[in-house]
Amino acid sequence: MTVFDEVKAALSMKTVAESCGLSVSRSGMVLCPFHKDKTPSAKIYHDIFHCFGCGVRVDVIGFVQRFFELKRPIDAVRKLNADFHLQLGLIGERILFDVREYRARQASRQEYEKWERESWLTLSSYYRLLLGWRELAPKSPDEKPDERFIYALHHLDKAEYLCEEFITADEEVKKSMAEAVAQAADFIRAQRV
Ligand SMILES: [Zn+2]
Repeated sequence: MTVFDEVKAALSMKTVAESCGLSVSRSGMVLCPFHKDKTPSAKIYHDIFHCFGCGVRVDVIGFVQRFFELKRPIDAVRKLNADFHLQLGLIGERILFDVREYRARQASRQEYEKWERESWLTLSSYYRLLLGWRELAPKSPDEKPDERFIYALHHLDKAEYLCEEFITADEEVKKSMAEAVAQAADFIRAQRV
């Protein structure tokens, strides 16, 4: 375990948020300290703070770093270590290694979240595109149907299913849908040329 993991294992998001003066409702909702929030629009999960208003999503370390405007995540670790008397040894080479590992993990996390956002945009655009095409139905039985209309008839259910599945799925399942997302992206791109 890195010192980052040790801090996260020792402190729940709720404990840390409350120590910063946030009042957490029974359902875990709080006023977001990172934007002008009039009604609680952020939720405290076990180890994550997520604001549905401004989109900030951070763990206890990211939360403290942001809240106290600290320069680096390790500064937040130091602060939490001191404030909560965690007694983690924060000196020596191990810290350098841990910092590097934490950065790498953050980077891959951000990459995943970017992919997730873009994938959702792709799937929902694909669905909306087909919904539009379904309106291209022939006006009379003699009229030759538009190819896009026929495509929509065959693929609309699948597109709707993909959207629903993606919204509710956990990370692993989302990743397993990467090929379907890529196909939808290619399809949309092909319509633009
Ligand atoms: Zn916010």
